[in-house]
Amino acid sequence: MCGTDEAIFALILFSFRVFSVFRGQISFMQIPYLIEIIYLVASVLFIYGLKAMSHPTTARRGMNAAAVGMLMAIAGTLFHREIVSYEWIIVGLVIGSLIGAAMSIWMPMTAMPQRTALSHAFGALAATIVGIAEFYRYSGELGSFKMTAIGFEVLFGGITVTGSLIAFAKLQGLVRGTPVTYKGQNIVNISLFVAAVGIFVYLIFFPVGILFYVMVGMAFLFGVLLVLPIGAADMPVVMSLMNSYAGLASAATGFALNNKVLIIAGTLDGFSGLILSILMCRAMNRSITNVLFGAFGSAGTEATQIEGTMRETSVDDVAVQLAYARQVVFVPGYGMATAQAQHALRELADTLEKRGVSVKYAIHPVAGRMPGHMNVLLAEANVPYSLLYELEQVNPEMPTTDVAVVVGANDTVNPDARDNPKSAIAGMPIIEVDRATQVIVLKRGQGKGFSGIENPLFFKPNTAMLYGDAKDSLSKLAQAVQQA
Ligand code: NAP
Repeated sequence: MCGTDEAIFALILFSFRVFSVFRGQISFMQIPYLIEIIYLVASVLFIYGLKAMSHPTTARRGMNAAAVGMLMAIAGTLFHREIVSYEWIIVGLVIGSLIGAAMSIWMPMTAMPQRTALSHAFGALAATIVGIAEFYRYSGELGSFKMTAIGFEVLFGGITVTGSLIAFAKLQGLVRGTPVTYKGQNIVNISLFVAAVGIFVYLIFFPVGILFYVMVGMAFLFGVLLVLPIGAADMPVVMSLMNSYAGLASAATGFALNNKVLIIAGTLDGFSGLILSILMCRAMNRSITNVLFGAFGSAGTEATQIEGTMRETSVDDVAVQLAYARQVVFVPGYGMATAQAQHALRELADTLEKRGVSVKYAIHPVAGRMPGHMNVLLAEANVPYSLLYELEQVNPEMPTTDVAVVVGANDTVNPDARDNPKSAIAGMPIIEVDRATQVIVLKRGQGKGFSGIENPLFFKPNTAMLYGDAKDSLSKLAQAVQQA
């Protein structure tokens, strides 16, 4: 261990020593009140944080408020009289902090969905282990209320652990991203689920024996079988659902441990995850059942017969088109995120605005790989929020737009979703760039979108392809526009 690590470790030990002394100063009678007050403040901060996160301008403040709330919840918990020593808590804290720090430092922004999936798996694993420990400790003496709470905890927790790990593996390319399906799959899954619920109900009345562990095993298995048939393109919805399950598992843990802040935070997490899943499905014009059981991207879909050829263009030609346009709409997608092109995009937009061109950014609700992906990146590049237009606002403007510039987006601008009822993405609302006078598509080559289907937009007569890394192309365009 190097000197800095030793110093940090000593500081943590010292903090806990100070904390123990401080805890010893408070009378036994005052402790429960103190904990409840800390939990109350933490809960208010969580609720405020969620509210603030619903708008880009206040989102950062909301994150900070929620983080302070979490710190208070942890600190409050450390006051509990049941804690007899802090050694193992320190070990957990150090290991958890090291893993968290490593993930935040080394995982790139584009791997954020995988990172989130791993976090859900860890959170749910903690809830499941607490549930198993509580059952082991009180086995035979559990009342039906506590058994119900523990049952929910391990069922939601178990499903979330393995479901999130499969989601991680699919997003990371460790498991094939296309749906893994077989005949009778839904019947197998539903039978397994019904059997696990049956055992759960039995345990509420007879909370003893090996059946509890069988139920936990079934929950783990169900998590795997539930996520395997779902395609990688639907993983954000799955993860949001897993987030919801992890929250509900935490809320159940709160009931099992009689911990109010866990109940509040878990319920907030559970329902915000559920609402987010529903909103994402709505943005793709699909139902949750279709996402979970529809095996998106499998057999039964047909691609459009593509007509026309792809036309390549050059930086100089595009620069002239942009410089003399009246209105330009930029449509960012996943490619902008991978290229980290948001700053270069803003610089090009600034250059155009200085020339009197009206610039707008069209934001599709599921562009990128997680909700709000584009908003976060553009906010990081200081793009004014007033220039961001949602799909419903910007589509009516497309016929009067001179140039629509697609920056690494594909599925979210695929006209097949609107025109071909048999397309794998049929019904998903799109940004209708094909209705603009000219469309310029910035991408590296012939790569497909996340759904893996061809995009007829690229073959339309009003579309031209500017090949190359998005950041590189945008920087060259900004220079060329200045000289145009
Ligand atoms: P997309 O369909 O995944 O297409 C991204 C395009 O970016 C690719 O065609 C790729 O083509 C290009 N690209 C990649 N790296 C690039 C780089 N460095 N420079 C330039 N171009 C690059 O992206 P999208 O339009 O944003 O669509 C998002 C997809 O995720 C949709 O299918 C959506 O349903 C799904 N999804 C998202 C969410 C969410 O919450 N955001 C939720 C559920 C589902 P090349 O390889 O040729 O460069």
